[in-house]
Amino acid sequence: MYRVTRNHMIYSMSAANEPVLRVEDGATVVFETCDCFENQIQTPDTKFEALDWNRINPAAGPVFVQGAEPGDILVVKIERIEVADKGAMLTGPDLGVLGDSLEENAIRIVPVLDGRAVYAGKVELPLSPMIGVIGTAPAGAAVACGTPGPHGGNMDCKKIAAGTTLYLPVNVPGALLALGDLHAAMGDGEVSVCGLEVPGEVTVTVKVLKGESLPLPLVKTSEAIYVIASEKSLDEAVVSATRGLAGLLEDKGGLSKHDAVNLLSLVGNVQICQVVDPLKTVRFELALTYLQQLGIEI
Ligand code: CA
Ligand code: ZN
Repeated sequence: MYRVTRNHMIYSMSAANEPVLRVEDGATVVFETCDCFENQIQTPDTKFEALDWNRINPAAGPVFVQGAEPGDILVVKIERIEVADKGAMLTGPDLGVLGDSLEENAIRIVPVLDGRAVYAGKVELPLSPMIGVIGTAPAGAAVACGTPGPHGGNMDCKKIAAGTTLYLPVNVPGALLALGDLHAAMGDGEVSVCGLEVPGEVTVTVKVLKGESLPLPLVKTSEAIYVIASEKSLDEAVVSATRGLAGLLEDKGGLSKHDAVNLLSLVGNVQICQVVDPLKTVRFELALTYLQQLGIEI
């Protein structure tokens, strides 16, 4: 098994990043991750002004997957996500949906005990560990790890969790997979600007898929697929995600565009991933049963 240690962090996804590991198609890799503040917040009295904002949203990697060529798809099975026993949150003016009405910055440390987080010493919530940042290198200019896009990145999609499979584009030789920004818990929207930000370890198995075309990024769970899209506005992201999934139903299911969009209108669900990053992210859910009925295999 391969391991990417915490000494190897990148702050943008880029073809220019030097790979820290070269692994074969089918390899299993453990990524050690820092939280999105690069573990700079350990106590509630950490000074906001003391934080190094150049070290926000680090991703571990990148990993070069042998045989992955531009035009292929990188299939990333999320085997396991382990999170630390406490997480950090930060919000304040200009951060998150209510940033306009916050007058000062506030840091919270939230303990994680026996599979539950305890907020403010009194509210228990279940853990739902997920990966906030995961992607491959884009073909063109570097993209900061805090920004989502067609290459993946900071999608903050809570469906990217253990047991699911993520399909990402291969834009450069080796794909250059990197990930970080684990959340022990996060609700759709991520309205305060962060989830329960934790360091941890992620185990994935990578496979290269050739000669296939899918709307990407795409997540598959045991029940459904989700086409993810990130755009300047939620409205635009909804259009992109719908276009992607409708295209799949047309290309592989033999439906006309009218029928594809009607079917999505009947049984598909537009869901919000996050509304607080430089681009907004939505996912379009379609249950596997409809793919099966249309003879579509993913
Ligand atoms: Ca994030
Ligand atoms: Zn995060």
